[in-house]
Amino acid sequence: MSEHRNLRERERLIFEVSTPGRIGYQLPPLEVPTVDPGASIAEAALREEIADLPEVSEVDVIRHFTRLSKWNYSVDEGLYPLGSCTMKYNPRINEELARLAGILHLHPLQPVGLVQGALALMWELERALSAVTGLPRVTLQPAAGAHGELTGMLMIRKALQARGEHRKLVLIPDSAHGTNPATAVFAGFEVVEIASTGQGTLDINALRKHIEGGNVAALMATVPNTLGVFEPQIATAAAMLHDKGAFLYMDGANLNAFVGIAQPGKMGVDAIHINLHKTFSTPHGGGGPGAGPVAVSDSLVPHLPVPVIEKVGDRFEMVTDRPGTIGKVRGFFGNFGMLVRALAYIRSLGRDGLKAMTEGAVLNANYVRAGLEGSYGLKYTGPSLHEVVFDDSRQSAHGVHNIDIAKRLLDYGFHPPTMSFPLIVHGALMIEPTESEGIQELDAFIEAMRAIAREAEEDPELLHGAPYTTPVRRLDEVRAARQPVLRWRRT
Ligand SMILES: *Cc1c(COP(=O)(O)O)cnc(C)c1O
Repeated sequence: MSEHRNLRERERLIFEVSTPGRIGYQLPPLEVPTVDPGASIAEAALREEIADLPEVSEVDVIRHFTRLSKWNYSVDEGLYPLGSCTMKYNPRINEELARLAGILHLHPLQPVGLVQGALALMWELERALSAVTGLPRVTLQPAAGAHGELTGMLMIRKALQARGEHRKLVLIPDSAHGTNPATAVFAGFEVVEIASTGQGTLDINALRKHIEGGNVAALMATVPNTLGVFEPQIATAAAMLHDKGAFLYMDGANLNAFVGIAQPGKMGVDAIHINLHKTFSTPHGGGGPGAGPVAVSDSLVPHLPVPVIEKVGDRFEMVTDRPGTIGKVRGFFGNFGMLVRALAYIRSLGRDGLKAMTEGAVLNANYVRAGLEGSYGLKYTGPSLHEVVFDDSRQSAHGVHNIDIAKRLLDYGFHPPTMSFPLIVHGALMIEPTESEGIQELDAFIEAMRAIAREAEEDPELLHGAPYTTPVRRLDEVRAARQPVLRWRRT
């Protein structure tokens, strides 16, 4: 029997399971008079036929989705070393608090007098993030990191306009996350890429040359950069930019590398987004939800999105009358549940705990680095902070590439690292273990990666066919991209 089940070729779609007449749920008898839809709904909006929805029983539905859910890999199962994404464990206490009835049932249109507790919570989170970043004010509105970038860059544009300046250029190092140039263009700027130094860091001389012209609005820099390497010249860069009337935007997605140790405010940063769903442990993946608060320096405070939460005596107000504002960047106040979880995380760890979090993240990344340096290429050898970027240069000599390594890792029971990013490392394998992992899990991962490096030398063909143990084997990714099948059709 169980053998028979394992031979099930694949999980059928819920549409294929459909059996005419099968019902999963019965509604109680109608308590109100039936209305002819034609009487109240425009003709054009009415369907001629009922949609081809699957007809399934409750048990069909439960089994189908439960089986699918077992195919998932999650942080609750094991190491999730997806570099740059900071896939840390989400403590259950955060979930408990986000689900308290008073929080869960809040409505965004409740009058201010009835949501004082929610506003107090947001105020407290703003104060906490202000302390972490060393910057005076924070907006909690943005929905994710990329949205935070846009919010920050719109504030910079507004600040320049307020001075009567229309600077066009935004400088971005070639190691940047793709969202940075996309944001700059979206905010109406032109991007100038700056090549990194041989150490993978910001080229301060190139920067100086670019800002001479006076047309530079800002530098967008990630610290530590996407190689997991601290930018030693960041404060110098900030001073140079400010001297020429330009701004420093910091991509704060890597904040996990220095919470409680260093403050962007002291480095001269004007705006930084914080990915609560990375650093502050709110769940993410699969496209959301997220939250990307932005902390700003005094020069950008007048341009914060509205409403701004202010404490007046012991009451909290939502202030919208701010002439310099960029306006709203989101309906209402963002993903409130994410804010609750982040504050719960911050409060449960406290100042010392947050520092220990960062130290753990850096220690773990360096432990993995030490464990794998003998097996994988390391193009940039500067000290690693919270992540380390290896490459497939040793394996590609045997015809094995990072994709083969990533797929083989599935057979060893791990989620693969981030691949092919940052772009300045060919065949990149970007590993970020986070502080959530204990030494046993790290050792098991290192062992698996070493075993794969041996396989690459001894049996490269094996790696080309991987994975072997997953419900779906190696896919034709080119065909999937070129000829995507996005919709099931009855044949
Ligand atoms: C994750 C990340 C972003 C984008 O954040 P989202 O919340 O996914 O929009 C930007 N920059 C870096 C370096 C990142 O790692």
